[in-house]
Amino acid sequence: MASDVKKILLVEDEKAIRDAVAAYLEREGYWVRGVGDGQSAVEEFEKHTFDLVILDLMLPKLSGERVCRAIRDTSDVPIIMLTAKGEVEDRIIGLELGADDYLIKPFSPRELVARVRALLRRVRVDVEPAVEVLDFADLVIDISGHKVMVEGKEVDLTASEFKLLTTLARYPGRVYTRMELVEKVLGYDFEGYERTIDSHVKNLRAKLGDDPRNPRWLYTVHGVGYRFEAPEKPAENAE
Ligand code: CA
Repeated sequence: MASDVKKILLVEDEKAIRDAVAAYLEREGYWVRGVGDGQSAVEEFEKHTFDLVILDLMLPKLSGERVCRAIRDTSDVPIIMLTAKGEVEDRIIGLELGADDYLIKPFSPRELVARVRALLRRVRVDVEPAVEVLDFADLVIDISGHKVMVEGKEVDLTASEFKLLTTLARYPGRVYTRMELVEKVLGYDFEGYERTIDSHVKNLRAKLGDDPRNPRWLYTVHGVGYRFEAPEKPAENAE
């Protein structure tokens, strides 16, 4: 059915890459709208509903960074950033802006499709109905409602940040390696993406107001990964 076709916004100013990627994705059954600059990307995103965005970082008119910010203002749609080889800082910037994943050019279309599939599958899993709330007093994670409250105030998390937090918070005290988190949060097991997790943790801490030097919830386990701990709930006064 047409409504099952996943719609992808592909933002890439190099026409040869854009055409090749679009053709490959279309062959895989996706519907692709390709645009060549940042301004058009923002306009397209406002006009239509997309299931996923593939976003080049270096773009004319409006940079990929600005486009990512604009999209994140209104949406937690999965975003894959494309960066040129050597733009290490840039790809980290991309993740700090709330992209879910990145690929370094030149990449194989096969790898891109694998990432697209993984992100779309993860989103589908996220929306499966399950009534579950993790209540840690000052931090409440409503898994079914996809909501996080810190001291009664809702915190806006991206899909990856939410997945990361719920993965850790389901088992307080359990240490997760970066590699385990890559698999659970990003949904694939390629090596070398541990730094992605570090960026997501950094963003998550900033949004939760959790100081890494004096953590309330998210603890770094040096040389290994991360764990979640919740402070004891204050005893409730008997009436
Ligand atoms: Ca470019």
